[in-house]
Amino acid sequence: MSSVNTAIQLITREQAEKGAAAKGSTCSPALAKGPWDYDLAEALAGVPAYGPGASSADPAPAGTPRQGQLPEEYKRASDAELGERIRAAKAALGERAVILGHFYQRDEVIQYADFVGDSFQLANAALTRPEAEAIIFCGVHFMAETADILSTLDQAVILPNLAAGCSMADMADADSVEECWEQLAEIFGAEPDAEGRVPVIPVTYMNSSAALKAFCGEHGGIVCTSSNAKTVLEWAFQRGQRVLFFPDQHLGRNTAKALGVPLDQMPMWNPRKDLGGNDEQALLDSRVILWHGFCSVHKRFSVAQIDKARADFPGVQVIVHPECPMEVVDAADSAGSTDFIKKAIAAATEPTTFAIGTEINMVNRLAAEYPQHTIFCLDPVICPCSTMYRIHPGYLAWVLEELVAGRVVNRITVDHNVQANARTALERMLAARP
Ligand code: SF4
Repeated sequence: MSSVNTAIQLITREQAEKGAAAKGSTCSPALAKGPWDYDLAEALAGVPAYGPGASSADPAPAGTPRQGQLPEEYKRASDAELGERIRAAKAALGERAVILGHFYQRDEVIQYADFVGDSFQLANAALTRPEAEAIIFCGVHFMAETADILSTLDQAVILPNLAAGCSMADMADADSVEECWEQLAEIFGAEPDAEGRVPVIPVTYMNSSAALKAFCGEHGGIVCTSSNAKTVLEWAFQRGQRVLFFPDQHLGRNTAKALGVPLDQMPMWNPRKDLGGNDEQALLDSRVILWHGFCSVHKRFSVAQIDKARADFPGVQVIVHPECPMEVVDAADSAGSTDFIKKAIAAATEPTTFAIGTEINMVNRLAAEYPQHTIFCLDPVICPCSTMYRIHPGYLAWVLEELVAGRVVNRITVDHNVQANARTALERMLAARP
């Protein structure tokens, strides 16, 4: 059975250079296996793992959901059989089910999606299908939670593989953020300054648990996406003397730097250390306190890769995602969200060479969509988002056929109180204006 299949290896630097067959290596030989091999390994070892791909090296927290074993018939089915079963179940369900596919999802799954987009676009796309009883989110856990927050009570949001988490989102848990908040309150107090700005505003990236979005809603904070992070930080600076930004240090740093915040006013908060590893004065002098989190996919991009792309392809346009390290963003021609990257390529009127610093599945799809351009991934070692990779067509076939049989499996439900506070933080984001 194929898993990530040859599509992952389609676009490599060698291919762009020589137009030859793909020679790229992958970051893990286990990419040729089905994710259930990892489920089994987890079950035997008793340790949750993210599976092969870019974030496989990150420790999965104890609370990471476990996917039970997928029934054997789905593991043994060929790609063609799974395709037939998915199409048949989809046809049987009709308008009752809507399938959402994230930009970083593998093509074997994306081919069945009714909508493809980033996490927030997809949650909003689901709102256009109020008649759907089931929203099948082919993304990761926090995305399904956001869809549940925004969908109606009657709609069931389903994550085909429960173990499809996000290693970045898992780097900030509610307990650690609460503890950080208490320590900051002891230092800053609660009194606003002369301009009415509170000591600190919490800002969470969309890539975080519903509990953290609720934390922000409850404490005067807000959610941001990679598209609106600048507007959201400006919103927060109008109301607070400083910002606590989690979980992605890179998006926080890149955005705050673009707004003119000096690096020495952006201390990092390491949740394993007292005061996050800072002295009190550094926190008092801070403008943005950055959580020690990162995306394992975007962390792989480097300035050396950009230098090589420029040497090999004079005139290349380098576009990277703001989850990349600051040095990479600084060395690129531009940086922006997945939507920004898509629009930048769509806007190019002349054949152009693009080196892209984001997840490989999305880069491959852009290369296929715009054959007039040469588009390749900056990282020559092909590495997908290993958590997204866990949504295999076998899991999609299983959840769909269960729905046809009248059973809802793998439903993601966010607690009612958490929903209310998380929605407050999301609504603040929607109302924030540049
Ligand atoms: S690409 Fe990074 S941030 Fe996005 S889901 Fe995967 S691990 Fe999480």
